[in-house]
Amino acid sequence: MPSGVDGGLGNTHLHVLTRAIIGRHKLGNQQMTVEKPFSLVEDARSDDADGPSEPVDKPSREEAKEAVRTLLRWAGDDPDREGLKDTPARVVSAYEEYFDGYNACPKTLLERTFEETDGYDEIVLLKGIRFESHCEHHMAPIIGRAHVAYLPHHRVIGISKLARLIEVYAKRLQIQEKMTAQIANTIDDILQPKGVAVVIEAAHQCMTTRGIHKPGVNMVTSRMLGAFRDDPTTRREFLSMIGSPATEHAPFA
Ligand SMILES: [Zn+2]
Repeated sequence: MPSGVDGGLGNTHLHVLTRAIIGRHKLGNQQMTVEKPFSLVEDARSDDADGPSEPVDKPSREEAKEAVRTLLRWAGDDPDREGLKDTPARVVSAYEEYFDGYNACPKTLLERTFEETDGYDEIVLLKGIRFESHCEHHMAPIIGRAHVAYLPHHRVIGISKLARLIEVYAKRLQIQEKMTAQIANTIDDILQPKGVAVVIEAAHQCMTTRGIHKPGVNMVTSRMLGAFRDDPTTRREFLSMIGSPATEHAPFA
């Protein structure tokens, strides 16, 4: 992401559709759309604020490594053989990276950084932000892109903070519907904009590498609040800006 864009809060940079991270890569030709694209997860608001709190009895690194050894044995291999000797340590380090989102509070992230502004009333859109997450059912990777837009009222925020917000929620155990709602609701709560729209398209490796083995399928979820929900023109503008993934066959990696 270009770092220079973040500082231009008061100027016209934000009028422009941000093309910081765009690009789709065709993987397959199927796409799955959730049934209620504009009103998904109505009641996700209650538990979405900061996500799960720190586990009270977080195990030690040694305990975590031991658990990996157990899984290696469960897979049918020998954790003591040469090639696997350092694997538990590597997996534990990888987990720190995959689940780094538990170390940050999304609300604090936005609260510290919004700026008061008056008069800006165009859609701010961050389009095609790639993220990596893990499903809470299988701990399998979810890889996708998020499109996040809001219609400012008094407050705006740098686009790098929006991208960071997505990352904080992505780097937790997730289901896509919940993550979509969490991002939208947090922006809504902190910035109090006239509207928020979040669309997420993602491929779930628990569907592609196990279970029903359906590669090339993207799941699309969305949450529309305020003007994006109530005003068809605003919603249409947003959907045309992002290329309306719900109707376009363009899976990605
Ligand atoms: Zn799964």
